[in-house]
Amino acid sequence: MSEPILELRHVSKVFTQRPDLIERAVNLVSRKHPSAGVHAVNDVSLTVQAGKVIGIVGESGCGKSTLARIVAQLIPATQGEVLYRGQNLATLDATSRRRMALEIQMVFQNPFASLNPRKRVADIIMEAPLVHGITPARERESRLAELLSMVGLDMSAAQRYPHQFSGGQRQRIGIARALAVKPRMLICDESVAALDVSIQAQILNLLMDLKEREQLTYLFISHDLGVVEHICDEVVIMYLGRVVEQASTEDIFSQSRHPYTQALLSAVPRIEDGKRDYQPVQGEIPSPLNPPAGCHFNPRCPHVMPRCRVDVPLLREVMPRHTAACHLNDLSLAR
Ligand code: SF4
Repeated sequence: MSEPILELRHVSKVFTQRPDLIERAVNLVSRKHPSAGVHAVNDVSLTVQAGKVIGIVGESGCGKSTLARIVAQLIPATQGEVLYRGQNLATLDATSRRRMALEIQMVFQNPFASLNPRKRVADIIMEAPLVHGITPARERESRLAELLSMVGLDMSAAQRYPHQFSGGQRQRIGIARALAVKPRMLICDESVAALDVSIQAQILNLLMDLKEREQLTYLFISHDLGVVEHICDEVVIMYLGRVVEQASTEDIFSQSRHPYTQALLSAVPRIEDGKRDYQPVQGEIPSPLNPPAGCHFNPRCPHVMPRCRVDVPLLREVMPRHTAACHLNDLSLAR
């Protein structure tokens, strides 16, 4: 087995908002404690082997993008450790940390919003490698040509501005910018979600080609299990900040052990099974400000039991290399 490139150990992120004057006065009069904040990511542990594609899946608000930003060192974790290539990034000095953090790059959902509209493509792509001394100034043009070619563009793109490109081409520019600093890991945060289906397929194929060519590892953040099935080795399912199931892609699709994963799967149209009708996940995702007690999924779960409204189900191994957090698994394990 290859070495882990990334390890998350009990990582949590809590966003707190300072109460305004009125809220503080109300809390004082009613002797209420101020809100403990939003637990956007709650005790997530994860090991990523080099060269793998790990899908992180869940609906909006499940914490997957916050987790991505913690791994990319864009925001700090409130608790827990992020180990990249065996090093706890939080304990490194600023220079070493910046150097290692450059090896983890993000490709964002909206390429238009993430590209500076006032800069030419050449400057967008080459700014970071020049500033960080990764590419010498004398090699700027040759490296730019190489990067554009790697993403299926040519040097005619170099002097143009982002608005002169289609959505798919802009995403290629975003990928070239990420590759420019020679990363080992790419975090694709809903990177194809805003694209038409045919363009999605082209960008996914490009990402898979680049993975082989550049020996990359991917964290692939998505709400779409259909996309994840085609490119991921393993899948992590998140719900309201917690990991509820984690297994190989094959196991997730063939023998899921969590009702939320099963609900997400039933929402995926599958032509090969002749399945034309599909059911969206029932009910609304609860507010993370006031999540349900016990299992967070209990208000939407078709199998809810009294215990689910009180006890938090722990994430534990239900089969080799397959973990799930659901009390139903205790019943089947006890049989
Ligand atoms: Fe449903 Fe209970 Fe399992 Fe939660 S713990 S997913 S509510 S059966």
